[in-house]
Amino acid sequence: MTRRRWIAEYWDEATATLVGAQAEHMARVLRAREGMEADVVAGGRVFHAEVAAVTLSGEESEVRFNLVTELVADPALPITLALSIYKFDRMEWAVEKATELGVAAIAPMIAQRTEKHLAQAAKKRVERWRRIAHEAAKQARRSDVPIIHDPVSLSERVRAASQATRIVLAEQERTTTLRHALDEALASPQAGMPSFEIALGPEGGWAPSEEALFDANGWRAVSLGPRILRAETAAIAALTVVASYLE
Ligand code: SAM
Repeated sequence: MTRRRWIAEYWDEATATLVGAQAEHMARVLRAREGMEADVVAGGRVFHAEVAAVTLSGEESEVRFNLVTELVADPALPITLALSIYKFDRMEWAVEKATELGVAAIAPMIAQRTEKHLAQAAKKRVERWRRIAHEAAKQARRSDVPIIHDPVSLSERVRAASQATRIVLAEQERTTTLRHALDEALASPQAGMPSFEIALGPEGGWAPSEEALFDANGWRAVSLGPRILRAETAAIAALTVVASYLE
């Protein structure tokens, strides 16, 4: 039987604890009681666990588990999505879907065509993106929650040192497809599992100076085909293609 999976806020070698909203939901809605079984993620490891104690007290609520046996966990895809900040409702959708598809990290960045008021609000919004990723990771039965980095300027992200194969999704690109770039990256000899960083533009697309900056810093521009996709559609399409190569 498939058990629900919970991502613990606190843990040690033998126990794990849910607090706040998660604990309250488990205690009040699911009527958690001692001995109830669940799968619990503790520090990126998944355990079969049993409820040891329940405290129902609003924001102070707590559900503590005894960890029984460790289960085999699927690792995240070694992909960081460098996501330009754009309309928050659509961007949140992209965060949720990227999490379901298995990305290891999401790096929000302020592009030239990110609207000013969204750029200003982004720092406060990041906690909400983390909560969305947490919920999506639980729903997708992931054994970890992707890292959601603090927002930075596009130039900081593009120039940062990285070992990953860096790909920029560019609707103007006509020759190199994502598959072509992946074939090349995976054919080149390198130690261990390759990792990828994939940059996605805002609704208005990349400014010419940004395209030049990507190019100067070794990012490969790729096409997802002749149609112009919404940013969140492009994110899902690209992650699905990369996942099909890695899984
Ligand atoms: N500036 C564009 C326009 O209005 O013609 C639209 C930009 S699109 C909505 C947002 C982002 O999605 C792009 O910057 C790019 O990163 C990605 N994207 C959309 N369609 C793509 C395609 N066919 N190939 C590669 N990337 C694409």
